[in-house]
Amino acid sequence: MNLHKQFENILVIASRNKGKIMEYREYLDGFSFEVIPQPEDIDIVETGTTFLENARIKALEVAEITGRNALADDSGLLVEALDDAPGVFSARYAKTDKERIHRVLNELNQIKNRKAKFSCAICIASPKKEVLIEVEGISYGEITHIPRGINGFGYDPIFQESTTGLTFAEMDLSQKKIFGHRGHAFTLLREFLETVQK
Ligand code: IMP
Repeated sequence: MNLHKQFENILVIASRNKGKIMEYREYLDGFSFEVIPQPEDIDIVETGTTFLENARIKALEVAEITGRNALADDSGLLVEALDDAPGVFSARYAKTDKERIHRVLNELNQIKNRKAKFSCAICIASPKKEVLIEVEGISYGEITHIPRGINGFGYDPIFQESTTGLTFAEMDLSQKKIFGHRGHAFTLLREFLETVQK
């Protein structure tokens, strides 16, 4: 398969999450791809039990529907003392970001072990139902006692990344690109994207 020949220079981001789309626009800046979000009305049921499975489901379906190469990411927070919850249910752990944060902090109330990690699986698929590449990136840290910072989205204000001591919500996008799970996964994609871009 000649990847370069079959890879057109448009990449659909298979997500409706504005925070994720913003991160991918930043990460793909400097590449020649035209980056477009998926159509609003596509709603995919995430039936997988792992981040990689869900990323694959989303990328394949969005690529087929749009007729373009699609990049999907499935990601979430894994808290050690909660047996790795919320995990693949991160988006569904409560109704809003605020309630999801509240639930995690409540469940960790009085618990000393605050170790947690963020994982991000990325899959790029073609409209011909082919998986072109799959990668996974992880970021390690701890759950804070109170939310800190105003940037980002989701659980960012309660995840303190281990090497910097900053929560993701205290980082700007260029720092999250270096220290975040999505940034780590993207680094693994870089070579592939450099090879296929025109
Ligand atoms: P997904 O869209 O099914 O992958 O859901 C991922 C969910 O995990 C999001 O809705 C957030 O709640 C959480 N999440 C994933 N990545 C991040 C991140 O970078 N920061 C904060 N929360 C995240």
